[in-house]
Amino acid sequence: MGKLLEVKNLHVSFQTHGGEVHAVRGVDFDIEQGETLAIVGESGCGKSVTSLAVMGLIPKPHGKIVAGSIQFKGTEISTLSAKRMRRIQGSDLSMIFQDPMTALNPTLTIGSQLTEGIIYQKKLSRQAAHQKAIEMLELVGLSNAEQRMKQYPHQFSGGMRQRIVIAMALICKPSLIIADEPTTALDVTIQAQILELFDQIQEETNVSMIMITHDLGVVAKTADRVAVMYAGKIVEMGDKRDIFYHAKHPYTQALLNAIVRLDLPSDTLKPIEGAPPDLFAPPQGCSFCDRCPFAMEVCRHVQPPTTAVDDHHTADCWLLDKRADAALAKG
Ligand code: SF4
Ligand code: MG
Repeated sequence: MGKLLEVKNLHVSFQTHGGEVHAVRGVDFDIEQGETLAIVGESGCGKSVTSLAVMGLIPKPHGKIVAGSIQFKGTEISTLSAKRMRRIQGSDLSMIFQDPMTALNPTLTIGSQLTEGIIYQKKLSRQAAHQKAIEMLELVGLSNAEQRMKQYPHQFSGGMRQRIVIAMALICKPSLIIADEPTTALDVTIQAQILELFDQIQEETNVSMIMITHDLGVVAKTADRVAVMYAGKIVEMGDKRDIFYHAKHPYTQALLNAIVRLDLPSDTLKPIEGAPPDLFAPPQGCSFCDRCPFAMEVCRHVQPPTTAVDDHHTADCWLLDKRADAALAKG
């Protein structure tokens, strides 16, 4: 079977008063059924924009997919009409945002919000939809589901609201869920419960997930594979173990070094100094160059190619490429 999702050479730009921002600059990745890919990076690195592009939600007219392809179940979806895309959104492809209140309508009962989508998408009868909604609420761990259906969003805690949003995302049995910082707004205990819920749901439904996060703790708990993004590009990609134990890219290493290690004295915590480059005018060479302790002359002038570290592990860094000297001579 082919891949569930294949993204190739994706470029997304935004027109602003200050000029064109190159938010995503040639991103490639794919996902198989049942797999979780975490996309991790600092804010502004293009991880959310990448997920919005997959969902067909790049805000128009300012935002635009400038190049590249997004294939979902073998169909090119980056060029679909809004109407055809809407049919896929919410049925086969679902998205969960950071703040559950943005997904919930405060004036409607959660019962009507849960059933609305499935009645529209799957043409279920009201009664069948009601039954399905109750099943979903039970799946996400809400007790007294029948009673809960009649309540409004404000009658739930933040953690429960996120469970309801997850139930909404699941109700049409999507093949892929994209979750953008789904636990960032929740306190730590609830966070852990929601991450566990994702795990359980995946075991029961085999849904694939893209987990967008800046939090390596979330990556550690959820991901099978990890894509590390920096300044609009994926700079390293690999299985979770590759990334956590054998990171090759200096940026990934810096991210890992910046995690608070409870087992080490606090003076070992190293923040990453400096700021990412300006994406109005992306650098000619490696975008991490100004912050990289290993930067060489070639890094300033030529973009590092993607090097295969092993079967499933790649990184874009001149340190891994023997042709660095030759590239400098040529560039
Ligand atoms: Fe550092 Fe050069 Fe590698 Fe970029 S290509 S991460 S600047 S060593
Ligand atoms: Mg974001």
